[in-house]
Amino acid sequence: MSESGTETGTGPSDASTPAESDAGSETRSDSDAETIQQTDAPLQVRDLRKEFGAITAVDGASFDVERGSLTGLIGPNGAGKSTTFNCITGTHRPTGGTVQFEGEDVTGLAPHQVADRGLVRTFQIARELGQMTVLENMMVAPKDQIGESLWRSVLPYARSAVDRQEREILERAWETLEFFEIDHLADEYASNLSGGQRKLLELARALLTDPDMLLLDEPFAGVNPTLEERLLDHIHALREQGYTFLIVEHDMDLIMQNCERVIVMHQGRILTEGTPDEVRQNEDVIEAYLGGEL
Ligand code: ADP
Ligand code: MG
Repeated sequence: MSESGTETGTGPSDASTPAESDAGSETRSDSDAETIQQTDAPLQVRDLRKEFGAITAVDGASFDVERGSLTGLIGPNGAGKSTTFNCITGTHRPTGGTVQFEGEDVTGLAPHQVADRGLVRTFQIARELGQMTVLENMMVAPKDQIGESLWRSVLPYARSAVDRQEREILERAWETLEFFEIDHLADEYASNLSGGQRKLLELARALLTDPDMLLLDEPFAGVNPTLEERLLDHIHALREQGYTFLIVEHDMDLIMQNCERVIVMHQGRILTEGTPDEVRQNEDVIEAYLGGEL
């Protein structure tokens, strides 16, 4: 892990070393012992539960995401991955359980409150943003974090807001576009981007909000193989800069080849977790995937 993001100037602001951080050693009252780890884990999910009426989408999920890791959350369709993701990022309020980030209980906080703490998800480029250029999308990116209703009230004035932005923010936006090699698309309308270019822009926008940890839900969906490679390269480069990633993905091979930690969900529960090799040899995993639609 390097000290900070030198290329984009957007590396994680918290420079604490794993050994000195207290994030992995906070006291826990419950003792669902199997997932307690000695390692430094900024994100700790415990006994997470989410019910939609009679459907239990997440059924007591506990796991950690280690600092600086590229961790994959996989599982067949309907396993509860997106619901878990949404409970972590504040999009859904869990029915039970806790989400801790950097030792703080963030369970049930609003998405922008979670993002303020450095736990940031990428957002799909909404239709309104398709009618703005790539650079304009970058300039309004941090405003995503102030909440939907406020954001909507800001939107009509986005162009004048751009005019008022500090030069520094503009420079950072450019640097980030250059880092992702989409600076040549700065004046293009976002709606004209290919699926893969759009994903790069989504990641670039998320970076402007000063995250420490990034959560991506199916970031490779609809991305052609060339851009998938590029997106992966960028994710690896950012991980080298010290960012922590949790990637939700149903494509098992892709996660196995790129993540050093893999968490497998099935029917709302954590089936197993470990290195790709450990997970690959787990018979329950094989069965879950063969039994599922994949
Ligand atoms: P995955 O992302 O692993 O494919 P999801 O988390 O999307 O799985 O879904 C898990 C289960 O919860 C599925 O049975 C799905 O139909 C159900 N589910 C997800 N979101 C909702 C919702 N908003 N309302 C009702 N049921 C939902
Ligand atoms: Mg999903």
